[in-house]
Amino acid sequence: MERQILAARWVFPVEGPPLERAIVEVEGSRIAAVYQGEHPRAVDLGNTALIPGLVNTHTHLEFSQLESPLGPTKPFAAWIRSIMKSRFTCTVPAGQRIQQGIEESLKAGTTCLGEIATSSESLQLLSADDRKPSAVVFRECLGFTPDRIEKQQQIAADYLQLGTDLELSDAVGLGISPHAPYSVNPDLYLNLVQQARDQGVPAAVHLAETEDELEFLTQKSGPFVDLLAELGLWDPQILRDGMRLYDYLAPLAELTSALAVHGNYFGDAEIEFLKQAPQISVVYCPRTHHYFGHRPHPWLTLISQGINVALGTDSRASNPDLSLWKELQFLREQFPNVSTDLILECGTLAGARALELSDRLGSLTVGKRADLALIRLTDDLVSDTGGAHLLNSRSYVSRVMLNGVWIN
Ligand SMILES: [Zn+2]
Repeated sequence: MERQILAARWVFPVEGPPLERAIVEVEGSRIAAVYQGEHPRAVDLGNTALIPGLVNTHTHLEFSQLESPLGPTKPFAAWIRSIMKSRFTCTVPAGQRIQQGIEESLKAGTTCLGEIATSSESLQLLSADDRKPSAVVFRECLGFTPDRIEKQQQIAADYLQLGTDLELSDAVGLGISPHAPYSVNPDLYLNLVQQARDQGVPAAVHLAETEDELEFLTQKSGPFVDLLAELGLWDPQILRDGMRLYDYLAPLAELTSALAVHGNYFGDAEIEFLKQAPQISVVYCPRTHHYFGHRPHPWLTLISQGINVALGTDSRASNPDLSLWKELQFLREQFPNVSTDLILECGTLAGARALELSDRLGSLTVGKRADLALIRLTDDLVSDTGGAHLLNSRSYVSRVMLNGVWIN
C-alpha cells in the first residue's frame, strides 16, 4: 500500500506537543507515523500546519440553509418561537439543508459531528458513503405534556431500530436527545435516558442554557411558562416542586457517555457533581454563547476540575456559519492567556472523547483514522514559536483529508 508522506511547517498531534518541521505518514485510511524531521519522498505542504480533523460536537444540520442567525435573542423563548416558525415555514427540503450543512462542515475542517436530528435523514445522509464526516446522530425527542410520552418513546425506539437495520459502519453512531427541561416532560426524560442506557447509546441534552431555564425549574415561572401556556401545554403539576439541574444531570451519569450541551449557567453544585461523573461531557458553543449575550461561560473552571469540555457551533439559527475552526479562532481572540494546545484539544480530542470515538479519531496518533485539516499559516509570522500563531485570525483551513483521502 502506497504511503502518503506529508511534510508541514507544524504538526499538532494533540496527544503530545506541537512538532516544528515534521512529517505525518498515512497508509490507507490510517495514520502510520508522526515525527519531527524530514523524509526524502515527502510532499512539502509549505507554510502550513497539519492538525487532526475538527470535531463539532453539537450541530442541528437541518437549519443549514439559514443565511443569518435568527432573532430576537431575548428572551430566549422568543428565539424558540422564531426557530419553530422557521421550521414550519421553510420550503427547502430537509435532505437538501442537511447536505448543505455536511458540505459546509467538511470545508471548514470538521471531520466528525455530534448531530441533533428531528428525522432519520441526517443518519441516512451521513452513513451514505465514506466521503462523509464520522458522526453520532442523536434523535431529538420533545413533548412536555404526559400525552406525548408514549409517542416520543416510540420515535426513539424506532430510530434505534433503524440504526440496526442500516448496518452502520463504525464511523456512524446513534444517540438519543431529550431536547431540554422546558420542552421534555420529566417522566419522558427519565424514560428516554433509560432507553439510551438499555441500548448502550449516548444521550445529549440542552442543559443550563439560560437563566430563564433555572427560573422555570426552581420557581415554575418566567418566559418558558409563558411560551408553554401560549402553546396550550402548561400545567404546573408536570414539574415537581424544587426541581434542580441535578435532577437532569444525575440520570445521565448512568450512561457510558452523555453530553450536557451549553451548561452556560452551571454553578458550583453542578461542577461538584460533574467532577464525579466523568461519563458526562459539557459542550460549549462559544459563538452561540456570545450571540445570546450570556454571562461568561465556566469552561475553564470545568476543565481545571478535570471535566471534559468539547466544542460545538450549534446551528446556523444562532451562528453565522458551521465552522468549528472559527470557534477556535474566536476562543483564541477572547482568551489570549489560554494556550493554543488547550483550545485545539477542546476542538478535537475532547469532542472525540465526548462522542466515545477517541480510540478512533481526535488526534494524530498512529492507528487512528487519517482525518486531517491542513491549515494555511500567515506568511508574515515567520518567527512563530511553538505554533502560537496557529489560530491567528488570518490562518484558514485550506484542505481536508478524510479517511486518508484529500477531499478538496
Ligand atoms: Zn442545540
